[in-house]
Amino acid sequence: MKFENVRAAGIKSSPSMAIAMAARKLMSEGRDVIDLSLGEPDFEPPAHVADAACAAIRAGGIRYGAPAGMESLRQAIVKKFRTENHLDYGLDEVMIANGAKQILFDVFLATLEPGDDVIVPTPCWVSYGDIVSLHGGVPVYVSCGPETGFKITAERLEAAITPKTRWLMLNSPSNPTGAIYTREEYRALAAVLARHPQVLVISDEIYEHILLRDVPFISFAEACPELRDRTMIVNGVSKAYAMTGWRVGYAAGPKALIAALNKMQSQSVTSVSPVAQAAALAALSGDQGFVGEAARTFAHRARLVVERLSPVPDLEFTAPDGAFYAFIGVSRLIGRKTPAGAALADDNELAAYLLNEFGLSSVPGMAFAAPGFIRLSIAASDRALEGACERLSGMVRSIR
Ligand code: PLP
Repeated sequence: MKFENVRAAGIKSSPSMAIAMAARKLMSEGRDVIDLSLGEPDFEPPAHVADAACAAIRAGGIRYGAPAGMESLRQAIVKKFRTENHLDYGLDEVMIANGAKQILFDVFLATLEPGDDVIVPTPCWVSYGDIVSLHGGVPVYVSCGPETGFKITAERLEAAITPKTRWLMLNSPSNPTGAIYTREEYRALAAVLARHPQVLVISDEIYEHILLRDVPFISFAEACPELRDRTMIVNGVSKAYAMTGWRVGYAAGPKALIAALNKMQSQSVTSVSPVAQAAALAALSGDQGFVGEAARTFAHRARLVVERLSPVPDLEFTAPDGAFYAFIGVSRLIGRKTPAGAALADDNELAAYLLNEFGLSSVPGMAFAAPGFIRLSIAASDRALEGACERLSGMVRSIR
């Protein structure tokens, strides 16, 4: 029996999840695997987060909530935008969803007509393209390699825009490359967008606080205030506060767009759990020391990986500016043969060889619409990262 419709059949399950599950299966069979496939902090959120959630449960009254989210949390989000990003949003210009991921579902569900284009600069997060397709849109991938610092330029944007373009999807700091757009780079994109008033912008800023070097973060909406009426910011507590499992994300944008997203929520999930919202409120309004501390830990780990991998021949790797990934060029290794005589045809096969023979789980670049790379998460202990670098260099030595 066929259950899936054309849209569901046309997409795949999240590739990074699938690889993590394969790694876990090997581990359950007793194999020694270092799993660097998933992108989530490897430590606990600050203690006041769990305390706030427990207090919310004990206080009772856990009922259906407003689709837009609790007013107290929305107030904290408004304050966050004002103090951290110099942006003024009203309470009805922000909303809360079950993770940044759900906001993308809400926005494409509410706004895409069948066949609308969404420009997605690549390498990009594994889910963007499939979420667009699932909602009847067409992801238009624009390849942005090391030559542009993995960022879309004004020229490439201009060339990709057609009358069917509805959204431009930006992500800074980027998963998987760690690239961060500067104010000037955003301004150059804004100059193009000024000529195409039908194009809206999503700026996914979920890694805002994971800054690894001296490159500062700026919100697209702060850099391009003239585009405020067609910009939606996506953010959340998953990465900054190590709260991936709590499932709280938030959006800010024009009132009518946020109202449309709330309508989607009201007919789907109803609201985010009030327990998770209480936890997110504590995270956003409590002591922020954790956030800087976590970023410093990730910066140390990024340096460690850069140090260990720089001497390895034939890997192309530059230190990431933000987020917590090492995005490593492996194109020089493609086509080489394993000791068993099998040629590694692409990054998928290379990642499978790395997992099966060397016990290191990575995500192949194809998953990010960027063949010729692999991504390692650096959200792991120094020991795991040292082991991972050894395994990766062992793999490089093993093929000819
Ligand atoms: N956006 C990017 C770029 C991500 O890397 C991720 C998670 O990996 C998300 C969004 C999803 O975040 P959330 O946990 O808030 O759904």
